[in-house]
Amino acid sequence: MIKLVIVMLLVWVGFVLFKKMRRLNVSNHPDNKIGQKMIACSVCDTHIPESEAIVKDGKIYCSKSCL
Ligand SMILES: [Zn+2]
Repeated sequence: MIKLVIVMLLVWVGFVLFKKMRRLNVSNHPDNKIGQKMIACSVCDTHIPESEAIVKDGKIYCSKSCL
């Protein structure tokens, strides 16, 4: 009977550690694109993250081909 309790305890500890590690991984590697402002290309109207946009003469372009 005591063996069963120990096994259950080990499973529970493993589960808690697994949950903790998953949470740490999420906070250590945040996706930069999530929560970033999305802006539309003035040529093709494609929505892209602000950091990837090309701004020229006050207009926004999604890529060099639109520029
Ligand atoms: Zn475009």
